Amino acid sequence: MALTIGVDIGGTKVAAGVVDEDGNIVEHLLRPTPAENPEQVAHTIGDVVLELGKGREIEAVGLGAAGFVDETRAIVRFAPNLAWREEPLQKKVSDLVGLPVVVENDANAMAWGEARFGAGRGETHVVCVTVGTGIGGGIVLDGSLYRGRWGMGAELGHMQVVPEGRLCGCGNLGCWEQYASGSALVIDARESAEVNPEQAAKLLKIAGGTPDLIEGPEVTEAARQGDPAALAAFASIAQWLGRGLADLAAILDPGCFILGGGVSRAADLWLDQTRESFAAHLTGRGHRPLAEIRLAELGASAGLVGAADLARRR
Ligand SMILES: [Zn+2]
Repeated sequence: MALTIGVDIGGTKVAAGVVDEDGNIVEHLLRPTPAENPEQVAHTIGDVVLELGKGREIEAVGLGAAGFVDETRAIVRFAPNLAWREEPLQKKVSDLVGLPVVVENDANAMAWGEARFGAGRGETHVVCVTVGTGIGGGIVLDGSLYRGRWGMGAELGHMQVVPEGRLCGCGNLGCWEQYASGSALVIDARESAEVNPEQAAKLLKIAGGTPDLIEGPEVTEAARQGDPAALAAFASIAQWLGRGLADLAAILDPGCFILGGGVSRAADLWLDQTRESFAAHLTGRGHRPLAEIRLAELGASAGLVGAADLARRR
């Protein structure tokens, strides 16, 4: 059976695995990312690939990189959390390991992994949304990963949902991820704890009495204890998630949405409300099938599994 290696390169960790044609991980390795030094990053990738390939016939290598990857899938133009600037990652790694290499944006690789082998199995039109500190995503249309003209698609988190709204890390105002991500959850919860501390009594107790100490885990715990402010924060991100998915469905008409990322671990607190908000905001509602909203199945390995499969189809 033909094997490929997938490597998921994030700001803190490099996760790599040997993957078979059915998306099964045969062997797996994890290393810290030397994020400040592009040469060391390339060498770390080279080392894990050579180590995993020992005694095996490997066909190609797929890299999922947390950054903007060009349309030739060779160069990382820019990465917010690593020192990559116009980094010729494909050539560097290929020279080190002597194998064909494909570079893909990490969220795209993750979307491909989920669409092919995870929650989107059997679907041809899939939109994957990663809800963590920000919102990332990837789009599979007609069975192919959608990259756009310059490889920059699909930055779903930066749709503008509120004109002149909250300032986003990207420099624009009112981006979706400012209202529907884990960071938004924390912003909402801190705000209510400031403005209306009685409503947030449990939340404040869990956070040690100070709104500034409220983070995602505190909001989750307080919501599970029925704290009104924490529940309202989850209701708010669910509302915004559903609205954003409805916009995406209006344009792309996918068969299903797959939601992953850190916030999806507390899905019992927001998934039903997201589905309701989606159904309430979808254009043409009542006269069209509703796309299913599912949770991701592959967890942290979706990116490397997807990258490995993309390398096979290079
Ligand atoms: Zn933005």
